[in-house]
Amino acid sequence: MRYIIYARKSSEGEDRQVQSIDDQINFLKKLAKEQNLEIVEIFSESKSAKKPGRPVFEEMLSFIQSKKATGILCWKLDRLSRNPKDNGDIQWFLQERIIEKIVTSDRNYLPEDNALVSAVEMGMANQYIRDLSKNVKRGIKSKLEKGVWPNYAPIGYLNRNKKIVVDKEKAKYIEKGFRLYSKGNISIEELTDLLFKEGFRSKAGNKYHKSKVDEILKKPFYYGVMLFNNEYYSGNHEPIISKELFDKVQVVLQGKNRSKRQKHFFAFRGLLKCEKCGCSLTATTKKGYNYYYCTNGKGNCEEHKRYLREEEIEKILADCLDKLEFNSEFVEIIYQSAKEKKDLDKTYTQDVLNTLKNRLNLVATKQERLLEGYCSKIISKDVYAQKIKDFQKEEADLKTQIKKIENKNLDETITLERKKKIFLKACYAKKEFLQAKKEKQTKTLQNLLWNVSIQNQELAKVSFKPEFQVIANEPNKHDFCKLR
Ligand SMILES: [Zn+2]
Repeated sequence: MRYIIYARKSSEGEDRQVQSIDDQINFLKKLAKEQNLEIVEIFSESKSAKKPGRPVFEEMLSFIQSKKATGILCWKLDRLSRNPKDNGDIQWFLQERIIEKIVTSDRNYLPEDNALVSAVEMGMANQYIRDLSKNVKRGIKSKLEKGVWPNYAPIGYLNRNKKIVVDKEKAKYIEKGFRLYSKGNISIEELTDLLFKEGFRSKAGNKYHKSKVDEILKKPFYYGVMLFNNEYYSGNHEPIISKELFDKVQVVLQGKNRSKRQKHFFAFRGLLKCEKCGCSLTATTKKGYNYYYCTNGKGNCEEHKRYLREEEIEKILADCLDKLEFNSEFVEIIYQSAKEKKDLDKTYTQDVLNTLKNRLNLVATKQERLLEGYCSKIISKDVYAQKIKDFQKEEADLKTQIKKIENKNLDETITLERKKKIFLKACYAKKEFLQAKKEKQTKTLQNLLWNVSIQNQELAKVSFKPEFQVIANEPNKHDFCKLR
């Protein structure tokens, strides 16, 4: 059997981890010698495989197609292909047994090998995911260490040219909120109302929920410190308040929580239903414990006599949230890969946009020339009037087309970000629930769950809010393709 060597390294950032072309070739030559493989040709290329259209790759394919070799030696599978078109070619060649074996530094692949088929199908995803995961983590960490916030700017700040800048309009409310609350004589609810009256509003012009205001008051970001995955980093962004003011507010917040907890508060009241009769469960306190039971509104429910301790309910609910749990790193990977796919589409879109914009410039130039012609009396008024109308129409059409494409691009990005948020929320649901204070627990559940019913002191049924139900329905949360 004859083999070719294929080595590739692009100048892009993604390739920083990859050995140089010479190193790859030397390594593969050695490998061939060890395994006694006959090398008939060496192909090397310095181009990214994210887009189709690598001349050497094409040359290699036709070399193989002409049956001059049936095996490929490459450093890693991801050297061969990272785009759907090239994947398709390789897959076809495997299926037709035009390629009989692929040898890499980690292992050999045969056409009937499922690992190879699925790796090719997924765009060489295995190695790719590993690289990406490492890169994403490293990227985020290094950003944080440099004082750069790797996420959306919190309220009061804006993302501008990869920087976080103060949102002058909102920052004044944030500052005022901290100042007022630090005095200790105003509730979060009152503060929320007051700020709203003075013009503190969401993008859509709505009032922020008091939980949002509560969240703001707890964010060290506003005095210049970034909290990410439970770690603190000093940020480059301009603070809105001083650390002293922040600390004062924390003291007030803690005091409020303590006094609040002494009141009767049933975290799960209103959330649970009796499976038997459909009534809501209510709660009562006996000897310092909270119990939940069916209100028996219809008068004939035996569940009425079954009391369930709050701790038990908490456990049942936490178990429900298990259904939503999966690795958050995974979300980041899915997100990045969806984004990369989008970026790939984007280059195409960019080409289209460029063509349209060039055409627009051309039309503008033509209009100028027409006007010159008319002014110097080369062109008659009638001809000028007719032509200029045509050009103006074309100009308007082009502008609409450009705008449409640009808006579509933006929409897609927003949808992607929104999906990521839902996934991340699901990931952290159980953790968030178990760590939260009772008041917050209620809120967490209200956001995630639709309906929970209880029978025989056990969970009978649970349904999630639609966006989370999708995640809960997916049994294999590590199935990369499906989740995407
Ligand atoms: Zn009942």
